Amino acid sequence: MTRNKKLIRILPLIALFALAVSGIVLSPSARAGGPLIVNNGTPIRWPRGLTQGGPLNSQTVNASGTVLYHVDSGPLGTLSNSEATALVDRIFGLYSSIPTANIRFSNAGPIIDPDSRQPVDVNSSNFGKFTSSTRPTFQNPIVFDSDGSITGGGGVLGFFGPLQLDGINNFQVEGFVVLNGAFVAQLGKIPFLGVFTHEFGHFAGPLDHSQINGNIAANSASASLPPGFNSGQIFDLYAPFTETVYPFIFNAPVGSQLRNSFKDSGAFIASLDMDTKNALSSLYPAPGFFASDPGSPNGAIEGRVVVRTSTGDIPVNGIDVIARRISKGAYPPAPGTVSFPNNQVPLDADGVPLPPPAQDATDSLATASSAVTGVQFGPGRYRLDGLPPGDYMVEVVQINPNATGGSGIGPLDTQVPLIVKEQTLGSVTVNAGQMAGGTDIVLAGFSNAPLVAVSEREPNEKAAKAQSLAIPAEVTGSGTDQDAAKLRVIFPGGQGVGLLNDLYTFTLTAPKTVFLSLDPISGSGDMDLYIFSDAFPGKKIPLGDASMMGFGATESASEQVAVQLPAGNYFIGVSIFAGSFNYRLRVIQSQ
Ligand SMILES: [Zn+2]
Repeated sequence: MTRNKKLIRILPLIALFALAVSGIVLSPSARAGGPLIVNNGTPIRWPRGLTQGGPLNSQTVNASGTVLYHVDSGPLGTLSNSEATALVDRIFGLYSSIPTANIRFSNAGPIIDPDSRQPVDVNSSNFGKFTSSTRPTFQNPIVFDSDGSITGGGGVLGFFGPLQLDGINNFQVEGFVVLNGAFVAQLGKIPFLGVFTHEFGHFAGPLDHSQINGNIAANSASASLPPGFNSGQIFDLYAPFTETVYPFIFNAPVGSQLRNSFKDSGAFIASLDMDTKNALSSLYPAPGFFASDPGSPNGAIEGRVVVRTSTGDIPVNGIDVIARRISKGAYPPAPGTVSFPNNQVPLDADGVPLPPPAQDATDSLATASSAVTGVQFGPGRYRLDGLPPGDYMVEVVQINPNATGGSGIGPLDTQVPLIVKEQTLGSVTVNAGQMAGGTDIVLAGFSNAPLVAVSEREPNEKAAKAQSLAIPAEVTGSGTDQDAAKLRVIFPGGQGVGLLNDLYTFTLTAPKTVFLSLDPISGSGDMDLYIFSDAFPGKKIPLGDASMMGFGATESASEQVAVQLPAGNYFIGVSIFAGSFNYRLRVIQSQ
């Protein structure tokens, strides 16, 4: 029931002091690992030919397919306009020189005020003139919010937004980036450059966030940390390999050797990692990038992630799949391994750390790629392109649970709580020119008891009449958007109401992870799925109420929800938001 839902994407690069970055996602689109915006399975990209219009008849993409950006004429915090512009040009130079990608970005001069026809310092008083999607200026403005007054409070470092989306051709016609100069002094110039670099990845693809090494480097509780390292050693090994589009900045812990020169991860995302390069290359492939291209030096891996049940495998969307090459060095690296020998970090002429030198011991961190399932290639499916040959460890990992909303990785509002937070498929051999695949990753830890087959019994729209389930269960039911409903879920901000047409109930005598999958057998429209505890407040349940344990309310007819639940009594609500269906609801709990 997301029809009226306007999700404002605020993408914090969050540290202990919340930093942020972001954009706006327009319905009907979904986010993704790799591409940021996906429309019915097709990623949104820049047009590849002349794109022109607005009051200046200016171009956002020129006839040869180069994306043209315009830069603010004002300063950026402690940086002069020429210093800040040089940073912008440096970053677009990185994204323009990926050998496997064929997209280029070029500075087309200052942002021009369409009224005065003169270069302009964009600030909070005139910002709307350059970021109106109804009266676009076709300039791809890069805005220097020198004093932070455009961005406002809340620790937001900057943000990205598509200004014009063409949903017919799946193009981003115009985009913009705002950089919050109020943070330059606090972060330092080079970490701030890293933040720029991250932000421009959203603009350049548009690319989504990703997670490979960053969550480990941050010593996250959601990560599977390598044995034999303390937190400082983990930072020193992994932080220099952090994905540019990892959604958070994090501080170097006490005990880190790199901390003397780098107080956080910012400087290390100022160069592009393999995964970010591959994500852009997948959208704008140069000949030879894809394994199927003639003479490609690369291979690829594809497959699905599923929950296995007695009535068949259920493909699971939103799962982070990582492939790490392990034929040069093992993963995880042996204790004592460091990214830079002796923790000495060479810098380039601008003061930016060079990427860590190639070492067999760290190849599994450097030669790594990721994708989120169910975004582009079908339910539960992933594909990793652009892999150099070798043997790879393929694994699913827990996505940082804070990586939602503006910091999201993949399409989910709530990350799936994996029962086993790092699960390895084993070694897959990648050969040049070949797609390795066909092997499903079965999520570990779920009950393998046969599903109890149940037919829906009406009436079941009152909590007192909710149909009791013994789980794991497979319910066959039906409904229409005209069916009776007594309970309703209230979305915040007047974004809508979900009527709960069919209610089921079950009891957990111990804490469990519960996975629910709702799928149409026949019919069409939009079904949504809710799970809430018996502490619900009454006939109207706010979506944010503490009793609401999880929900799936996309525009799709299929929904999945995975939640960790304490022992207790729970209700499942099936909402026929639009249309009519015969449906199948499967409820599986952890062992
Ligand atoms: Zn971001």
